[in-house]
Order: sequence, then C-alpha cells, then structure tokens
Amino acid sequence: MNNHVTVLEIDANAVLHNLNYFKQKLKSETKILAVVKAFGYGSDAIEIAKIVEKDVDYFAVAYANEGINLREAGITTPILVLHPQIANIKDIVKHRLEPNLYNFKILDAFLAYANEVPLMNYPIHIKFNTGLNRLGFWHTDVPNILATLKQSNNVIVQSLFSHLAASEDVNEQEFTINQINNFAYIVKQVYEHLGYEPMIHILNTSGVINYAKAQFDMVRIGIGLYGFGNTPNETANLKNTHLLKSVISQITLIKPGETVGYNRAFVASKPTKSATIPIGHADGISRRLGNKNGFVVVNGQPAPIIGNVCMDMIMVDVTNIDCKEEDEVIIFNHQQHIEFMAHKCETIPYEILTALSQRIKRLVKR
Ligand SMILES: *Cc1c(COP(=O)(O)O)cnc(C)c1O
Repeated sequence: MNNHVTVLEIDANAVLHNLNYFKQKLKSETKILAVVKAFGYGSDAIEIAKIVEKDVDYFAVAYANEGINLREAGITTPILVLHPQIANIKDIVKHRLEPNLYNFKILDAFLAYANEVPLMNYPIHIKFNTGLNRLGFWHTDVPNILATLKQSNNVIVQSLFSHLAASEDVNEQEFTINQINNFAYIVKQVYEHLGYEPMIHILNTSGVINYAKAQFDMVRIGIGLYGFGNTPNETANLKNTHLLKSVISQITLIKPGETVGYNRAFVASKPTKSATIPIGHADGISRRLGNKNGFVVVNGQPAPIIGNVCMDMIMVDVTNIDCKEEDEVIIFNHQQHIEFMAHKCETIPYEILTALSQRIKRLVKR
C-alpha cells in the first residue's frame, strides 16, 4: 500500500469527457483504441483501463508486460502490444495479448510458435512503415507477407496499421497525406490477395484532429485522453486529467546571505521563507525547473522553486504566502501548467506526464 503524501489524482470524469470529445469527431461506427502505454501516460494504466473499458474497443500498450498487468487486473478487452519482442511471444499468447508483427523476424517467430502449439486463428496485427521509419514492414514486403500468411491458418490478421510521423504539424500536411495515401495503397494490395479484410487504422490523437477523413475502421487515442490536443485551441476543449499535489514538510526562515539546497545555488538577498516539498527529480520534477524556472502553487499563490531540485525534495519561496507546515501544495492542476513545465524543460507534455515516478501515490477521483 502506497502511503506517500505526494499524490497524483486522476480525474475519471475528465478522462471520459476527453474520450467523448474525440468520439464526437468520429463516425459512430469507428472503433476506438485507447493507448495506455507507459502507465497510462504516467497516470495508472489499470485505473484508466477500468474507467474507459466500457467505451472503447481496444487497448494498446508498448510492451508485453504492460499488457500482462492489465490482464492480471481483470481487463478482458482486446490489447494490442505495439512493440513486442520475440522473447515475449509465449507470454503474449498465454495472456491473450495481440502482437504487432512489424518485421519478418518476429512474424516468422510468431508463426513458428503458433504452428508448434498449435494456435487456431490467433489475432495478430501487421504494421507498415509509411515514413516514420521506426517499426514496420515496407510496402515492398507485401507479396512476401501474403505468401508467408497463406501458409498458416494458425493466425488471423486482425488489423493492418501504420503511424503518422507529424500529424500535429500543419507544415507537414503534404508528407502526412502521402503517408495516408501510401497506407491506403498497401491496404488495397493486401485486401486483394489475403481473402479477407482486416481492420485498418493510422490516426493518433492529432491525426483525429487534423485528418479525421482517414479514420478508417479505428483510431488510436493516447495523449488526447489525458487532456492534450497538441494545440492550445484543441487542448482548451479537453479537461485536465492529472492533478499532482503534495504538502509542505518544513518551513525554514533564511537570513540574507544564507543559501538553500545543494551547491548553495539559491542565495537569499533578503529574509526568505522557504518551504520544503516531498517531490524531486526522481519523481519527474526535472532539475531544469530549479532556480526559479518552475513553480508550485501554495494556497492559491505561485511559489517559485529555489535552488537546485533534489532527488526527493524541492524548496520553494513562500516568503509572501500565508502558509504553514502540512499545508497542501499543488505541483500542477491544469494543462497550461504542465505545458509551461514542458516548455521550461524543452520538451513536450508527453514527457512531463510519463516521467512521474511510480513512487507517487495514484488516486482516482470519480
Ligand atoms: C503512442 C502511440 C499512439 C498514441 O499517440 P498520441 O499522440 O498519444 O495519441 C498511437 N499509435 C502508436 C503506434 C503509438 O506508439
């Protein structure tokens, strides 16, 4: 049982609001896959899955063990494993997870295992690389894939999919539309020769926002569920899902000339009231937020982080804030604050959220 006072509150209603926001952009028959990899973007994959399971058709995780965790928590919805490894094949089948087979090495290995068991019509997914150049078969692989699959009735291709490289970037429209067209061409070839028509999908959150026409049979929504639309306008339509809070452990009064924290990085120029908060860089609060680059909120007032961020603590300036030890501290409670942190850390909200350590207690607010 985690009894830590630093808590990440997950807002179930906000997650459902965000899911419905995307549903309303889509045809009623389009299936929804909720991406819950990386602990549900730093929240709690099991809790997120429980919140949305009745309203989605699929889940996706990156790795097999993430899928196993969902199964062991009683999630029965189909789960696509986006980045399985050959070493995980047995466990994948044992937990009825559905592998993305992205090259001949893993396709052949899976088919060999499926033949050995033997499995019947086991659901698999085939990914094509259309420009991200990360995982996936090339369009030139289609004849070999078809020849390989024809030899096996141990598996059934549940879906064909691809992933966009720059769906959030309006300057990359031409590239993105090319990816979509190339994917559609690959699908056409597979459909002509496979003998049945697997589901097809290519859109992530920003894909749904900018290229809804390419929704095909399913869309894969990750960051959107968690409140980010990758533009201020879209984010404004979404609700904040992650609220990170803590408490003041200690208040220290510092005289002019005295310093705070490691390397004596903060030097008081006047009498200063410093509050110590039990969250640090081991929890995902980047050292880049130290030295007044970041702030927390104490009793409604911004309190800048002073000195260097420690592994387990930060110190914040509360000189002008009426507060005492044990008072609540908001690390962030809206998307704009998370975006501000991301900006200061030269990163994106995805990284701020997924960096939140497992040490932080998770709590679902319904
Ligand atoms: C992570 C991921 C997604 C979700 O992307 P968002 O931008 O978070 O919506 C979709 N598809 C694949 C293949 C992914 O790896």
